[in-house]
Amino acid sequence: MPAGRHFLQIPGPTNVPDRILRAIDRPTIDHRGPEFEALGKEVLGGIRRIFKTRHPVVIYPASGTGAWEAALVNVLSPGDKVLMYESGHFASLWCKLARRLGLEIDLIPGDWRRGAEAAAIHERLAADKGHVIKAVCVVHNETSTGATTRVPLVRKAIDDAGHPALLLVDTISSLASIDYRHDEWGVDVTVGGSQKGLMLPPGLSFNALSDKALAANKAAKLPRSYWDWGEMLGPNDKGFFPYTPATNLLYGLREAIAMLEEEGLDSVFARHDRHAEATRRAAAAWGLEVLCAVPEEYSSSLTALLMPAGHDADRLRAAILERFDMSLGMGLGKLAGKVFRIGHLGDFNDLTLMGTLAGVEMGLEIAGVPHRKDGVRAAMEYLASCARPAAAKAA
Ligand SMILES: *Cc1c(COP(=O)(O)O)cnc(C)c1O
Repeated sequence: MPAGRHFLQIPGPTNVPDRILRAIDRPTIDHRGPEFEALGKEVLGGIRRIFKTRHPVVIYPASGTGAWEAALVNVLSPGDKVLMYESGHFASLWCKLARRLGLEIDLIPGDWRRGAEAAAIHERLAADKGHVIKAVCVVHNETSTGATTRVPLVRKAIDDAGHPALLLVDTISSLASIDYRHDEWGVDVTVGGSQKGLMLPPGLSFNALSDKALAANKAAKLPRSYWDWGEMLGPNDKGFFPYTPATNLLYGLREAIAMLEEEGLDSVFARHDRHAEATRRAAAAWGLEVLCAVPEEYSSSLTALLMPAGHDADRLRAAILERFDMSLGMGLGKLAGKVFRIGHLGDFNDLTLMGTLAGVEMGLEIAGVPHRKDGVRAAMEYLASCARPAAAKAA
């Protein structure tokens, strides 16, 4: 084992803070007893504040993929048509899952360098006079590309088309890292996961609901049992679950919510924005191109960088892992070998970012990737400049 902490700078799972590790390290309790009731009520209430919703949030003992499936089977029927946008690898995987469930998918092709385009969604919905499309699914933060979808614009596209389709959004790698408002943005089902911005180990995932989603649930005919919201919501009212919940992860979730609220969600988002900007400044100084081509859609939880032609991202990542004990995200799907991804989300501060960027800059050197050696300095200058106005105000 190398000395010091491993740098887990993939865009999830993320580094689990000590406070959360301590919170999880407790005996598992009776999930039907009074002690659990208090824990259940606390986390089921608290997680609503993270999604910014007054509606129920269902918590599954599953990875994010389980909550993807849950979102679909709870509101749709066999053969229903669903509009999806191919923003990257994760959007493609959600599409594949939906097809396997027997849904008919209209997939709008994308170039993997931007979020879902509201105009393209509007066009499809406006043409669907018979309202055959039952749901629109988008990924808020495409973890494979580092491009976000502007969800309010998608909501507006649906409303402008006068279309009744449900809006389903994947926030697995943006929840608690990038501003997200389930109720205000009129989202019907939001899918979340534990191991990214929430700083927990993998193993919990979420569906945040709306009244419209609950109404659709009553009519939806896709087979479901384990994932059924109806089974969950009754016991959840009293703080309990219909089957054994992931009790120790719920201890961790309670601690994660406390940490996020102590810092304040707005400060959490501002911190992620700052680290993303510093990372892009480092990339510009190195002479490496950011994959996301639309500045308004830059992700604040990760940055994907394109390798210069003829250089393999996986060789660079392997050199950095071997020499500096840091894991970076690989290129997924058609981006394999072409990009590497720097995760800067979760339990993360200015110096963690500087360690990460120093590891990348040294890695570029030892892997023989052409670059200018100014990235770390550019990021430092930016981070220091962010600290200055606050210091001036205090003086
Ligand atoms: C990680 C991720 C998933 C998959 O979640 P799992 O927990 O691996 O099942 C889905 N969508 C997005 C955007 C992700 O980042």
